[in-house]
Amino acid sequence: ARKFFVGGNWKCNGTVSEVNKIVNVLNGADVPPTDVVEVVISPPFVFLPQVKAALRSDFAVAAQNAWVKKGGAYTGEISAEMLVNLEIPWVILGHSERRSLLKESNEFVADKVAYALGQGLKVIACIGETLEQREAGETMTVVAEQTKAIAEKVKDWSNVVLAYEPVWAIGTGKVASPAQAQEVHVDLRSWLATNVSSEIAESVRIIYGGSVSGANCVELAGQPDVDGFLVGGASLKPEFVDIIKAAS
Ligand code: 13P
Repeated sequence: ARKFFVGGNWKCNGTVSEVNKIVNVLNGADVPPTDVVEVVISPPFVFLPQVKAALRSDFAVAAQNAWVKKGGAYTGEISAEMLVNLEIPWVILGHSERRSLLKESNEFVADKVAYALGQGLKVIACIGETLEQREAGETMTVVAEQTKAIAEKVKDWSNVVLAYEPVWAIGTGKVASPAQAQEVHVDLRSWLATNVSSEIAESVRIIYGGSVSGANCVELAGQPDVDGFLVGGASLKPEFVDIIKAAS
């Protein structure tokens, strides 16, 4: 069985005092035990040590990005080695905001995933189609290409969580329907079975992201191939606790 996974992606939000408030809410929350749900909080880099130090020990932390190779003369970047050194166990890679705004290609994202895994990090790898691509009937082609780029460089998927985040659903309030999410997750799983292995297809967690809220999380979580969520906006609110409780 795949353990339910709930990630909170804070994106580029927060102040020292806001971070303290959110962490206090999380620390006081009554949530299912760690054998039922794995919770990972991803604040901006500068707040990672603060969050890691203050956060309850049954929740983990993730960075939102990492450099593609060993650190060095790369002004403004943060290396996987630094995350390991600070005992940050997880990193989100290939988020659609970085793919579109920072022009990260499938290849570049795949190189980052492979490098981070090689350093011992666990990776939340994000994929997803735009509205234009969905309307053109290209959803599966697009997500398969994004996944293929990763599969060409990654053989061991045991430390990978695949986050399906349709771009049209991110920050828009337009959540994918449970059936739409389930359909893509099933297609991804069968792509993995064909192109990677049936064991990996069965064991890898495929989580959904895009306008997940306290109101829609239970129905989405009820889909057999939705193994959890990557939550943006709602992860900054007390509502995130309800999303964690949707673990089934
Ligand atoms: P929202 O939950 O704000 O739509 O963001 C989703 C997301 O991008 C998580 O990585």
